Amino acid sequence: MKKLILGLDGMDFDVALDLNLKNILQVQFGRIAVPISKILGQPTSPEVWASFLCGEHVKMIFTGRKRIWLLKYLVKLKRVFPFISIGLGKKTTGRVVSFPKLNKETWVDLPNVEEVNSPYYSYTNEIFEYSKQFSEDKNLDDFKNNILGVYERDTERIISEVKLEITDPTCDILFAYLHFPDMFNHLWFQDLDILYSHYQKMDDFVKQVLDLVGDTHVIIVSDHGFDFSKGEHSDFGFISSNKFMNFPKDIMGLGKLMYEYAGANK
Ligand SMILES: [Zn+2]
Repeated sequence: MKKLILGLDGMDFDVALDLNLKNILQVQFGRIAVPISKILGQPTSPEVWASFLCGEHVKMIFTGRKRIWLLKYLVKLKRVFPFISIGLGKKTTGRVVSFPKLNKETWVDLPNVEEVNSPYYSYTNEIFEYSKQFSEDKNLDDFKNNILGVYERDTERIISEVKLEITDPTCDILFAYLHFPDMFNHLWFQDLDILYSHYQKMDDFVKQVLDLVGDTHVIIVSDHGFDFSKGEHSDFGFISSNKFMNFPKDIMGLGKLMYEYAGANK
């Protein structure tokens, strides 16, 4: 493995800096521009990750089922995911079910690239499953516990994949993705002590990964930040590297760079 790209959904530049998350910040860090969804007026994960993976702007939204929304469910969901535009009385797209299908080639499709838990590839959709259960009969505490379980499983999955690929000379890039800290942000943005302890835990996880990969080039990237006063996504992503490099101006440029790293043309 020559490069490890760690996608940390919703990693916020200011929080990483304020909490001085040394492992996540690595040796060089900054903000990176990302596409803003025309529908929601903020960056959304399907669109930003698709644009990163394709190296060009790709408009995407989460898939959802059209259904009649129950008011109780709406209020509950809106509290946890304030960015969901509910539009009572207006047309809604339904509840979030999963990442949609991406019918485009990406740099992850290249033979010398591997992925673990990537949106559009081996992402498990467990978070959406739990969101669905939460909407139906579970309480918020159960939901939070299930989400913490997903975090544990996904970080373990990444660690074992990194261990597997680190000695593989045919792997030029490993892309590993976590739907965190985004889920932490949404669930604990009104309880910053707990939220920040989750961030510290993530920094420990990143240290574990960095220790494993030694001299391998590691880039950490996020699809957006978080506005804690509004409880919704903020406009810029985060980027860091353990080696000095020229950061591309936006996430599409970073995607193009992945093609280059993999020895392919975009
Ligand atoms: Zn989010």
